[in-house]
Amino acid sequence: MDERYDLCVIGAGTAGFAAAERARRDGRSVLIVSGPGDLGGTCIRRGCMPAKTLFAASERLGDVESAEELGVRAPAPRADVPAIIARKRELVEYFAEDRVAELETYPLARGWARFVARDAIEVGGRRIAAGRFVIATGSHVVAPPIDGLVETGYLTSDDALELTRVPPSLAILGGGPVGCEFAQYFSRLGARVTLLQEEPALLRQEDDDVGRALEAALAHEGVDVRTGCTVRHCGRDGAEPVLSLRDSAGDGELRAAAVLLASNRVPKLEGLALDVAGVARSAHGIAVDDYLATTNPAIYAAGDVLGRRYLVHVAEYAGRLAARNAFAREPRAADFDRFEAHAVYTQPQVAVAGLTERDCAARGIVVRVRRHPVRDVGKAVVAGEPEGFVKMIVAIDGTILGIALVADGASEMIGEGIALIESRATTRMVADMPHLHPTMSEIYARVAEDFEAEDTRPVPV
Ligand SMILES: Cc1cc2nc3c(=O)[nH]c(=O)nc-3n(C[C@H](O)[C@H](O)[C@H](O)COP(=O)(O)OP(=O)(O)OC[C@H]3O[C@@H](n4cnc5c(N)ncnc54)[C@H](O)[C@@H]3O)c2cc1C
Repeated sequence: MDERYDLCVIGAGTAGFAAAERARRDGRSVLIVSGPGDLGGTCIRRGCMPAKTLFAASERLGDVESAEELGVRAPAPRADVPAIIARKRELVEYFAEDRVAELETYPLARGWARFVARDAIEVGGRRIAAGRFVIATGSHVVAPPIDGLVETGYLTSDDALELTRVPPSLAILGGGPVGCEFAQYFSRLGARVTLLQEEPALLRQEDDDVGRALEAALAHEGVDVRTGCTVRHCGRDGAEPVLSLRDSAGDGELRAAAVLLASNRVPKLEGLALDVAGVARSAHGIAVDDYLATTNPAIYAAGDVLGRRYLVHVAEYAGRLAARNAFAREPRAADFDRFEAHAVYTQPQVAVAGLTERDCAARGIVVRVRRHPVRDVGKAVVAGEPEGFVKMIVAIDGTILGIALVADGASEMIGEGIALIESRATTRMVADMPHLHPTMSEIYARVAEDFEAEDTRPVPV
């Protein structure tokens, strides 16, 4: 006879764990299926935490290198890469320990799950039936259709997190957050880095001014950023990868000791036999309705498998909501707009909350937009970090709809921005709010005052 549970969660990452916690809290019996590798999910094992551990080291390196500007003389710093990687491994185990202990309080099945009926899966020789399922199998990198790329060989972020020897030169394919962060990391560790982006600006999901500001910062510290550049072919000359490129200037060639693929992360759906369960796919991932139910009403999906933003707070929100809705008489529609906030952990950082100018144009929302340079804030100048700007996007009635920051510490500053948008604050309220002096957050007051000054300007007669 089948084992049977109220809920079977497939995938033990952020979304799966959040779904299991919610359903168990509601009194449901829950089984979690986790693939055969390490328990813990991408964020802890191969994503946010290990990556930010490495970037903390390269940030410190940058701080020491630029300290002279502040009158601090230090001998030229040197990165001990094996020590950086050893610290990362140690911290991953530290973070994973708690999560593994929490996961082990659930009935667990280890192995790759495969649907064998609309209400049952097979995993590791076990057949498991459930009243409801949440699919939370995450995402993985697949090779884009670039001629010769697979044969040439490439690294992914998983490999980059383990490199104890920095390649002398590196071609990074993809100028999204992961590509930009690793470009700065490897460049500061001494690699000659070329960052290749097909779109006209870095960070294609942001407005172009944001991507261009980061491009200027990376280029300033020696990263060769090539936007509007297509990789047409990859091959090898002896051991050395050679990339054929095309951009507006024509055709060219790039030689690098290694290639890092930092694009093309897609939902991981292989082997699940979704057709057996009656679960359809969308163009981006698993197709779900507003309540996160798939085309099989007993099966829900959450996290990176949805093919939306690949972010931990989004995965956690969707996991919880999917588990709630799976058993609810009155399901709640997902409101992903509220979770539109994200950061790029470079120096300067990029952080965005709410709608972009591009989003507003696509939705036909008429907005007013103001940018204010970071160098206008005393704290940025005394800290020697004057680069960047804040951009505020507001509705005609003054309600703040979106904020983009390019600034030192932007990922922390955006917390205030999220709260402003969530509470439907207006520029008038922000201009009147106290902001400590000297702090970076004064930038919010400055940009809000720009709107207010404009509103009170005398109307020409
Ligand atoms: C380098 C890097 C840096 C990142 N940095 C950030 C960041 O700074 N901030 C941020 O918010 N996000 C970041 N992310 C993204 C974030 O890690 C993911 O969005 C998040 O972890 C996704 O959670 P998930 O639960 O959907 O998937 P995962 O955590 O990937 O969990 C999916 C689990 O399902 C298992 N699985 C897959 N198929 C099956 C199957 N058939 N049967 C059983 N189990 C299966 C997998 O083994 C895995 O454990 C980063 C990602 C990367 C790669």
